[in-house]
Amino acid sequence: MSCLLCRGREGDAELRRAQVWEDRLWRLTMSLGGYVPGFSYLEPKRHIPYITDLDGEEAATLGEVLAKVTRALREETAAELVYVYVFGGGIPHLHITLAPHREGDALYDRLLRGEIVEEKQPSGAVRLISKEFPPIAEERQRATAAGVQRRLSGPNAAAPTPPKRTISDQEDLSRWEGEGGPPSGNG
Ligand SMILES: [Zn+2]
Repeated sequence: MSCLLCRGREGDAELRRAQVWEDRLWRLTMSLGGYVPGFSYLEPKRHIPYITDLDGEEAATLGEVLAKVTRALREETAAELVYVYVFGGGIPHLHITLAPHREGDALYDRLLRGEIVEEKQPSGAVRLISKEFPPIAEERQRATAAGVQRRLSGPNAAAPTPPKRTISDQEDLSRWEGEGGPPSGNG
């Protein structure tokens, strides 16, 4: 099998990590060379490449599993927070990076690159602005928001993405009949 994460425990030595928990669908491994105690990875056993591909039982169980494992990590490490990252680069098998965080540790606690300027809001909240990467125009962001809103609320919003079809699969299109046809790209 070419995917390192699909090899499960067999691949752990190469990745310098050890399995600490598993159930039928998920496993949690801990880095043996991390920069903070408890630095871990949660991943589905099934080969699901990206978070955007999440479906089926894994989609249904992720919330509960995430709460359970992050709670155990926080308690064991006495961390203030557990950061949850899904970068999606690197190995194309979904892995959710979990990092217990305490103030002053090795973790970067901001999303933005560049020199950060803090701008205090009337509410007391602090807005972070990067000097190198100014915020994108509000108009553009509003257009993106409207587009996403359409995708999430359109007639096909709840329909799963159909498997990629080839010409030879066309007879399968019949199964979409009665559901308004196959969901089309933009919904
Ligand atoms: Zn895989």
